[in-house]
Amino acid sequence: MPENAQHYKLLTGARLIDGAGGPLIDNGAVLVHGSRIAAVGPASTVSAPDGASVERFDFPGKTIMPGMVDCHTHHNGFGDGRSGDDLSTLPDEVLTLQSARNARASLFSGVTSIRENGPKNFTMFRLRDAVNQGIAVGPRMVLCGRPVAIIGGHMGYFGSVATGPVEARATTRQLIKEGADYIKITATGGSTRTSFPLRPSFEVDELKAITEEAHKFGKLTAAHCVSTQGTVNSLEAGVDMIIHCVFKEADGSDVFRPEVAERIGRQGAYVNPTLHVGRSRIWVMQHKKEREGLTPEEQQHLDAGLRNLETRMEDCRRMQEMGLRVITGSDSSWGDYQLGNTVYEAELLVASGYSAMKGVLSVTGEAAKALGIDDVTGTLEPGKEADIIVVDGNPADDINALWNVNEVFLAGRRVDRGSPESVEANRQMPPRG
Ligand SMILES: [Zn+2]
Repeated sequence: MPENAQHYKLLTGARLIDGAGGPLIDNGAVLVHGSRIAAVGPASTVSAPDGASVERFDFPGKTIMPGMVDCHTHHNGFGDGRSGDDLSTLPDEVLTLQSARNARASLFSGVTSIRENGPKNFTMFRLRDAVNQGIAVGPRMVLCGRPVAIIGGHMGYFGSVATGPVEARATTRQLIKEGADYIKITATGGSTRTSFPLRPSFEVDELKAITEEAHKFGKLTAAHCVSTQGTVNSLEAGVDMIIHCVFKEADGSDVFRPEVAERIGRQGAYVNPTLHVGRSRIWVMQHKKEREGLTPEEQQHLDAGLRNLETRMEDCRRMQEMGLRVITGSDSSWGDYQLGNTVYEAELLVASGYSAMKGVLSVTGEAAKALGIDDVTGTLEPGKEADIIVVDGNPADDINALWNVNEVFLAGRRVDRGSPESVEANRQMPPRG
C-alpha cells in the first residue's frame, strides 16, 4: 500500500499500556501516521481525520504497548559461554555478521531499541550503516563505538584504551567523531583475563575527563562496576549510569553499602543490575546436571553461582526500595545469555521486588529515559515514533506475558518476523528442575 500523506494505521486491542506510567487502558487504540504516533487512548476516542485512508489492525484479547528497550547488549557475542577474550580474536567481518543475526533476533522478540555496551572496533557502526541501507534488520541503536578501558583492563581488547586524563579526553573525542551516541567506560576489571574485577581501573581524574568531555557534547556515560570502589569513583566523576553495580569489597566480601546506594539516588544515576547473565550460567550448569551430572568442582561452582544470585537480587531489592532508578539491560549476548531473551532480565527485576507494571516500565519508558531517547521512543504518546508491540495476555499482571509477542511495529512499519517457530527458536529455555 502506498504511503501517501493521508494514510493511517489504526491498532486496537483489549488493553493498552502507554509505558509512561499511565493507567492501563481497556479497549485501547493507537493511530499511526507515517513513522509516528498520531493519537493514543480508549478506542472510542481515537480516529483518523475524515476522508483519510485507514488500515486497521485489530487484536482482540491482546495488549498493545511500546516496544521493549534493552539498555545493555553485546551484539558481537554468541551467548555460548565463550569469553570476551576469545570473542575479540574473531575477525571484524565475522563479528559484524553475528551482530546482524543478534539484532534480528532481538527485534523479532519485541525489542525496538538497544544500547550496545561493548563491540569490537567499528563492527556496530557498520551494522547500523547496513540497517540504514536496508541490507540488515535491527532495532534502533544507541552505540558507544567501543568501551573505554585501561591498558589490560576489561574489554580493552575491543580497541580503545587510555592512560591519563589527556588520553581519556582524546579517546572520548575520537569515539564521538566516529559516531558514538554515548560513552561506555569500564571502571573496574571484569571477566577479561588481564583485568582485576575487585579493583577500580581508571583514576577519578581520568573518569572525570571522560565524563566532562562526553557531557560537553551532550552525550551520556555509563560505567561497568563489578566492585564497590568502581561505583564510588564513577559517582565522584558524575557518571550517568552504574552498570552491574555489584557491592563487593576489595577482599571479595559482599557488603551492601547504603551510603553508596543513597548517593546513586541523590545524583539521579540509573542502575542496570544485569541479574540474568549470572543466572544464565547457572542454567547451563543445571542443564548439564540434568543431562549427565556434575563433578564435585562443578557442583561447587553451581552452589556459588546460586548464592551470588541471591545476594545480587537482595541488593537489587534494597535499591528498588530506596527508589533508585533501576532499569532493564540484559547484557546479552555476553557469557551464556543470548540476545532475543531480554525478558529474563525484566522478570528478575520483578522477582527482586518490582511490581509487574514497574517491570514493564523498566524495559520501556524508564529505559528510554535512561538512554536519553525518551523524546523519540519508549512510550505510546502522540509525536513519538511508532515503536509498538502486541502481546498475548497482560504483562502488567504477569511480566512473562512479554514472551508472547505477536506483532512488532518499528517506526510505524509492521516487521515481518517469519514463522512463530523461527522466533521461538531464539528462546533459551530454563532447566526443568
Ligand atoms: Zn556487558
